[in-house]
Amino acid sequence: MKKSRFIPAFLLSAALLSGLAGCKKETEYYNPNAQTSSVTETQTELQTEPSTQASTEESTEASTEASTEESTEASIEESTAVPVVSKELAVGDIWYVNTDSLNIRDYPSTEGNKIGELYRGEEVRILALAENGWVQIHSATMDGYVKADFLVSSPDQVDGAAADVAASAAPASNETSNANTSSSNGHIVCIDAGHQQAGISEQEPNGPGSSVMKAKLTTGTSGVATGLAEYQLNLDVSQMLQQELLNRGYQVVMIRTTNDCAMSNAERAVYANESGAEIFVRIHANSSNDPSVNGAMFYAPSSANSYLSADVISASNTLASTMLSFYCSTTGLANKGVLQDDNMTGINWCTIPVTIVEMGFMSNPEEDQKMANPEFQAVIAQGLANGIDAYFGR
Ligand SMILES: [Zn+2]
Repeated sequence: MKKSRFIPAFLLSAALLSGLAGCKKETEYYNPNAQTSSVTETQTELQTEPSTQASTEESTEASTEASTEESTEASIEESTAVPVVSKELAVGDIWYVNTDSLNIRDYPSTEGNKIGELYRGEEVRILALAENGWVQIHSATMDGYVKADFLVSSPDQVDGAAADVAASAAPASNETSNANTSSSNGHIVCIDAGHQQAGISEQEPNGPGSSVMKAKLTTGTSGVATGLAEYQLNLDVSQMLQQELLNRGYQVVMIRTTNDCAMSNAERAVYANESGAEIFVRIHANSSNDPSVNGAMFYAPSSANSYLSADVISASNTLASTMLSFYCSTTGLANKGVLQDDNMTGINWCTIPVTIVEMGFMSNPEEDQKMANPEFQAVIAQGLANGIDAYFGR
């Protein structure tokens, strides 16, 4: 299943590229000089989560009796004597604990309640950056907040030599550093952040050779409670997913990285087809007239779709159902199933497996507010990446 196809952007047809004014096209490649990170370790971490529950309880129990110990550590957390290292922490990165014991708190402050403890060398995944140098993390035992000063970006640095820590911060200071935590896994994913700021009312066939015409691009919906535009939510989540996939060793092709990208649905599909990507993941959010409707549904073509090959139809359904399953188990959102639809321009023009992700309903006030929260968006990105990992058998 593993393929290694590194197709530079300049191989894309000039015709396609010329039609893309206003879109920031990016093909991100892994950095071969990057330090190793560990998709396998991440998976292990996720898989072992339930079985490590006991140790959480133990450590919590142990720590409550040692209140003096806790207050000692609290003062260390606040201390400015600890050299503050400029780190390029990014959501999705795996970092390592570089102190004998590190409190996990329910709030990004020493005022927060201690809910657990991490020990030297344990790995954590960064869920979100919080204020004052705190980060929200996922560990083998729980999620919570820790002080970033006590984390290092590689297990090699765990001994805590200041020189090592400083050295690690140096190369991670430019734009290309987002590939700094991983080596390539050989897979290429194309992500389309659905819609853009302005719609394109001009029409295009909803499939190659089709007489059914649809608007080239609609503006999408918006949050009933937050007022957030779908195109913005789609872009925010897509960029988090891009980072998450880069961290896991994927190459990522982005259809757009700005809200000013006048590419139609068909043009986006053709671009994805020719990008060298193995799968095309189109990120959207849903809307219903009924505000109580909630949950995720992913689109795929049916076996009757006349535009796609049987192989692409089959793989698209596998992609949709696999991703949906992991997405829902990671985010806790309701699973409304895979919807087969052969009237979607964004699917019918594809020659690679494709799914349209409807993350949740922006017409449902609670789901709208949830999806607008950057911390939850990071979880969404993880759920989507977990599904992509599973699709590729990783
Ligand atoms: Zn949409």
